[in-house]
Amino acid sequence: MNEVTKETYKPTSPNSKLDFASVWEYAPAPESASHAEVKNKYELFIGGKFVKPSSGNYFESTNPANGEVITEFAEASKSDVNKAVKAARKAFEGEWSSISAKERGKYLYRIARMIQERAREFAVLESMDGGKPIRESRDVDIPLVAAHFFYYAGWADKLEYAFPGQKPEAVGVCGQIIPWNFPLLMLAWKIAPALACGNTVVLKPAETTSLTALKFAELVQEAGLPDGVVNIVTGAGETGAEIVNHKDIDKIAFTGSTGVGKLIQRSLAGTDKKFTLELGGKGAMIVFEDAPIDQAVEGIINAIFFNQGHVCCAGSRLLVQEGVADTVMQKLKDRMESLIVGDPLDKNTDVGAINSQGQFETINKYLKIALDEGADVYQSTCNIPENGYFVRPTLLSNVSQSNRVVQEEIFGPVLTIQTFRTADEAIQKANNTPFGLAGGVWTDKGSKIFKVGSGLRSGVVWANTYNKFDPTSPFGGYKESGVGREGGLHGLGAYLKF
Ligand code: NAP
Ligand code: MG
Repeated sequence: MNEVTKETYKPTSPNSKLDFASVWEYAPAPESASHAEVKNKYELFIGGKFVKPSSGNYFESTNPANGEVITEFAEASKSDVNKAVKAARKAFEGEWSSISAKERGKYLYRIARMIQERAREFAVLESMDGGKPIRESRDVDIPLVAAHFFYYAGWADKLEYAFPGQKPEAVGVCGQIIPWNFPLLMLAWKIAPALACGNTVVLKPAETTSLTALKFAELVQEAGLPDGVVNIVTGAGETGAEIVNHKDIDKIAFTGSTGVGKLIQRSLAGTDKKFTLELGGKGAMIVFEDAPIDQAVEGIINAIFFNQGHVCCAGSRLLVQEGVADTVMQKLKDRMESLIVGDPLDKNTDVGAINSQGQFETINKYLKIALDEGADVYQSTCNIPENGYFVRPTLLSNVSQSNRVVQEEIFGPVLTIQTFRTADEAIQKANNTPFGLAGGVWTDKGSKIFKVGSGLRSGVVWANTYNKFDPTSPFGGYKESGVGREGGLHGLGAYLKF
């Protein structure tokens, strides 16, 4: 067992030696990456062509599990963003708007099918570039990407049925900026509804995970989508800001941190651009005494250690009813011991690599804050690789509501635990952060599910499960977790004007 104290706590560093022998030994089961083709360098995708950046600058993309450079991406500056917006405007006013809605839908169906055909390649590249376990990119991310294109393809020629009595029209050119935690899935959440409604897009993927967006650009070319309907510009935050501030963009769709979301909202104030912001979270999971405890523990493990806790709606706070707190804590520790942290391309891996050095440092900063705040820090004793960015699954107990680790988004495999006595106390604690993206409740009683579900001020509430997604269901936040909804009919309406 590994109780960490202020004296013994050392952040797991890329070069740390292993402290503990693993009890869980599995033979390696690596997914082959030989079929996944990666070029040495990727250009910008503008007007249906791959074009060099006007600055001539490129930046490297690394594999966070081993530090190896995978490829280089072009850095888009103001003039490149300008070209991309011009291409999108030309397509919006020209060929794309002359195509019937039914034909638009066919393009989306074609893209969905092509993603399914190349699912393995996309999954491998997503895991290499971003660090998430192949089991997740293969079984969650890529199937959901295809599902979103299929779902919105179906709506393309039925918009007036989706919004009866209204005359929905495309908004125009949409600027879309996405984060690194679900790279291709966030692209699908943005591009599929935008195109279904007849818009054109300029999308910027995150700096550390642009690979699958450029592979998607190749697929768009193969699908024969008219030039300029989808434009992909890579670069850092400045490239994103150029999109946000561009005069000829009609709508901004942003997913990322609350800090950047606030900056964007400020820049958009006073303009007539439409916008949706999908921001951070600090999801609470409420476990009642009558819950099926083993299932709840499995759900909690999935809610916070899934994708290294790099999930906006992650269940990063656990609220347990007092009578079962010790049992839940012990069962969680036992289950954490069996989690395998390591090579994202190994099919046995449960917890992959932290996405970047910056995020690795942020998580370790919060672990130090936890110790300073007097929390008991417990980490699983598993082996972790010597190179790359890895953090052991971590529990923080003896924390209080006002602690920073309870209030702020850590975005890593770190779970805080608090207890409660009554449902009202649980609801009050769950709601007591600046966020309101997601929450969960575990109980045997439907009545408690409805009481807690209606009391939580969060966009999603799961009952006896967590982190389940479906393209037909809207997703979005209360409070500082965002403005607007994506997914389902709500997500369609966000790309239309009436
Ligand atoms: P981030 O730092 O806010 O970055 C998000 C995107 O914005 C990236 O493409 C980033 O580019 C770009 N960007 C940075 N500064 C910008 C600026 N001033 N103007 C315009 N764009 C700018 O967030 P992240 O660290 O990538 O992602 C993690 C965050 O996303 C977490 O807070 C998480 O909760 C949130 N998230 C929310 C949802 C949701 O649906 N609510 C879903 C997923 C993630 P660079 O990558 O080059 O910096
Ligand atoms: Mg990378």
